[in-house]
Amino acid sequence: MHEWQGQPRFRYEAELDLRFPEEVASMPGGRALFNCIQCGTCSGTCPLATYMDYSPRKIIAMTRAGFRDEVLHSFTIWLCASCYACAVECPRKIKITDFMSELKQRAIQEGVFPRRFPVAVLAREFYDSVRKWGRNSESRLVLRLYAKTNPLQLFRQIRLGFKLLRTGRFSLRVEAIEHPEELKKLLSAVESAKRDAFGLGSDHRTHQAAEVARGVT
Ligand code: SF4
Ligand code: SF4
Repeated sequence: MHEWQGQPRFRYEAELDLRFPEEVASMPGGRALFNCIQCGTCSGTCPLATYMDYSPRKIIAMTRAGFRDEVLHSFTIWLCASCYACAVECPRKIKITDFMSELKQRAIQEGVFPRRFPVAVLAREFYDSVRKWGRNSESRLVLRLYAKTNPLQLFRQIRLGFKLLRTGRFSLRVEAIEHPEELKKLLSAVESAKRDAFGLGSDHRTHQAAEVARGVT
C-alpha cells in the first residue's frame, strides 16, 4: 500500500494490475507463486526482513494480487541478499530468492527502482553497461554509482582512486566485446518478445518513464 497523507492508501481491485502475477509466473518455476499458503516461514527466516518495507511473504502475496507498483517500487527486492534461507525453509518449495531477482530485473527494465538507493543504482548501471558493451567496466560503474547516489563520496575517494590507478588495480579503460551491437539486438528481441507476450505496449513503458520523470520513484 502506498502511503497517502501519512495513512496507508488502500487499493481498489480496479486499480490492481491483474496481468502482473501472470508475467512474474512466466519465469522458470514461476507457477509456484500460486502455491504459496502464506504461512510466513520465509519472513520469519529472512535475516533482513526487519529492514524491508514489505516482508517476503507480503511480496509474494502482493505479486499474486497484482500490486505491481508497490512491489516494483519496494526496497525489499533490493535488500534481498540472495541468501536462499527462505527458499530452503519454504514448505511449498517456492524459490522466493528467484522471485526477488525476477522482480529486480523488472524494476530495472521499467525504470522504477528507488533513486539514489545504491543497490538499485549499481544493478541498473551494471545492466546498462553489459547491454551496451557486453561487459562491465569497473571504473565506469564506480564513477556512475557515486555520481548518482552520493557525489560527495566520490571526492572523498579521489586519493584512493589515484592510488589504485597508479598500482594498476583500477583501470579507466572501457571493456567491450567484439560485436556489442549483436548482443544488444538479441536483448532487444527478448525484451520485445516478453512485452508482446503480455500485451505491454509502448504505453506501459511511457507511463513508467513518466513516473520516474515526475520523481515518483
Ligand atoms: S514460506 Fe513459502 S508458502 Fe510460506 S509464505 Fe513464504 S513463500 Fe509462501
Ligand atoms: S533470499 Fe532474500 S528474501 Fe530470502 S531469506 Fe535471504 S535475504 Fe531474505
